[in-house]
Amino acid sequence: MMKLKDSFIKSIEEIVGSENIKLNELMKKHTTFKVGGPADLLVYPSTYEMIKKVIDVCKANNVEYFLMGNGSNLIVKDGGFRGVVIKVDRLSEIKVTDNSVTAQCGAILSAVAKKALENGLTGLEFAAGIPGYIGGAVAMNAGAYGGEMSHVLEKVLVINDENNIIELSKDELELGYRTSAILKYGYIVLETTIRLEQGNKEDIKGRMNELALQRRTKQPLEYPSAGSTFKRPVGYFAGKLIQDAGLKGAVVGGAQVSEKHSGFIINVGDASAADILNLIKRVQDEVYKQFGVELQTEVRIIGEEL
Ligand SMILES: Cc1cc2nc3c(=O)[nH]c(=O)nc-3n(C[C@H](O)[C@H](O)[C@H](O)COP(=O)(O)OP(=O)(O)OC[C@H]3O[C@@H](n4cnc5c(N)ncnc54)[C@H](O)[C@@H]3O)c2cc1C
Repeated sequence: MMKLKDSFIKSIEEIVGSENIKLNELMKKHTTFKVGGPADLLVYPSTYEMIKKVIDVCKANNVEYFLMGNGSNLIVKDGGFRGVVIKVDRLSEIKVTDNSVTAQCGAILSAVAKKALENGLTGLEFAAGIPGYIGGAVAMNAGAYGGEMSHVLEKVLVINDENNIIELSKDELELGYRTSAILKYGYIVLETTIRLEQGNKEDIKGRMNELALQRRTKQPLEYPSAGSTFKRPVGYFAGKLIQDAGLKGAVVGGAQVSEKHSGFIINVGDASAADILNLIKRVQDEVYKQFGVELQTEVRIIGEEL
């Protein structure tokens, strides 16, 4: 196991302040699945410059780094993450100008959707119940109920692979089904501008309530999870394939294929990341054996095994 040098930790402390770092922080406290061993160092930058500087110091010292959002699409393995996890909770400002909403990467989507509602702006209703930050939602091109980030996105401010802050238009983001240039090239979204349309507040609120009800009825929101575990394979629905393979309710340790929605793996009792990953493997193998379809995970997986 790598141990970070005191001098390295000191340099990071000088950038973000000692109150904004945590050593050996259990990542299970930071993922909606509630799994994950310790990150060597977790840092909370509060400016874009701080993120850049943290990355500079990591690169100069050959230390791995990972920028996370709300951890709602993330499995950190039980051995944890060797290096620095950058968490953007402190960057959560949201501004509205006419029909545009500009949000920092750590703004939670539901708050951005609420701001849109308060300003009578329509187009983001689909995202109100997605429990990620807007930066994570752009990276994943998150979507639901016929909407997705690509439909509303105008431009983003990113840190590119050379650690420069640049602006990219939507067309430069290669947004596809749960994928983007951000994930592909390891860019970091700092700020997102979306363009919405003038609408009626009552209608916007009504649509949000309707979608929230659909979620509560169809999804196992009462258990920790990362939402849909698998991407939708072309021509199929992952949940249906899993159910048809006889895997509804299947259990490995504390992980279970939800009885309510087979596309969700849930943590029913202090599951380890290994339980979830073993269940994912079992589902993939069984669905492939029975239907010849390869299920790919939508959840991102990082870290090392115990
Ligand atoms: C109950 C539940 C329901 C869900 N429903 C939906 C749904 O309907 N539709 C949907 O699409 N998803 C859904 N999700 C999954 C998840 O909420 C989305 O994928 C969300 O966009 C992830 O955002 P996050 O901030 O939590 O990202 P994380 O989980 O923290 O990170 C996910 C990936 O994005 C990257 N990332 C995060 N922030 C940034 C950034 N600022 N710049 C660059 N990369 C970044 C990370 O490095 C990582 O690779 C659901 C999850 C749960 C738990």
